[in-house]
Amino acid sequence: MEDFHFPSQIKLLNEDNLRLDGRRLDELRPIKLEVGVLARADGSAYIEQGKSKILAAVYGPRELHPRHLAQPDEALLQCIYRMATFSVEERKSPAPSRRETELSKVITEALAPAVFLKYYPRASIDVYIQVIQADGGTRCSSITAASLALADAGIPLRDLVSAVAAGKIDGKIALDLSDLEDKNGQADLPVAIMPRKGLTTLLQMDGMMTREEFIEAYELAVKGCQKIYEMQREILIQKYIDIQSEASEEADEQENGG
Ligand code: UDP
Repeated sequence: MEDFHFPSQIKLLNEDNLRLDGRRLDELRPIKLEVGVLARADGSAYIEQGKSKILAAVYGPRELHPRHLAQPDEALLQCIYRMATFSVEERKSPAPSRRETELSKVITEALAPAVFLKYYPRASIDVYIQVIQADGGTRCSSITAASLALADAGIPLRDLVSAVAAGKIDGKIALDLSDLEDKNGQADLPVAIMPRKGLTTLLQMDGMMTREEFIEAYELAVKGCQKIYEMQREILIQKYIDIQSEASEEADEQENGG
């Protein structure tokens, strides 16, 4: 029989159940969100989640090319997920990979239920997602950022979409796995939800979990999504507060300057 070689397992939890980066099992990585970061896009957002760094840019609704793809009763949402060649440890080829094509589809499907596509028949709404630095969980961070970029573009949404994965590391259920945890853990469960509507728009699983573990991981991911949703809301509210105060400053200047 062939002698299989399994890589030596890294210990991902210490005796206090703390992870290699010091997080508790139910803790998200530090998250930084920004909206309106690109001048030439109709809407844009940037996310840092742990060491993952991702930009999302929205163009549209706009005329669709090639026209035969146009749908008579709604807009076509097209998300394109790409990783920069320098975003991962081993240089990624600039040619689109099968994984990027798959993730583009998965991300589009996770966002589509939140967009009022029927408002824009025959049009196209394009979302370009660029992973600048990858450290696990990039499909979920991409969904979180793309949903903010759609809101920033003023596209009518039923709800925001918030996403994060839970998984299993050293036999325990943990939230928001890093690349190291993903590669050395036993399972990964990316989840996206529309938090106010209570709908799940993405649910994937890689690895092995019992039914009980699956339920625990799903519930932990949903709690994580709800925390991310609060951060998304805050950053959007902040954007409108900033616009309002800029506008009133301008009005004051005009009044005072004559
Ligand atoms: N990754 C990599 N090279 C690649 C693709 C992925 O190093 O060509 C890493 C990257 O850090 C990514 C992680 O593997 O975040 C996990 O990839 P997966 O396909 O599970 O998707 P993700 O967890 O990012 O949604």
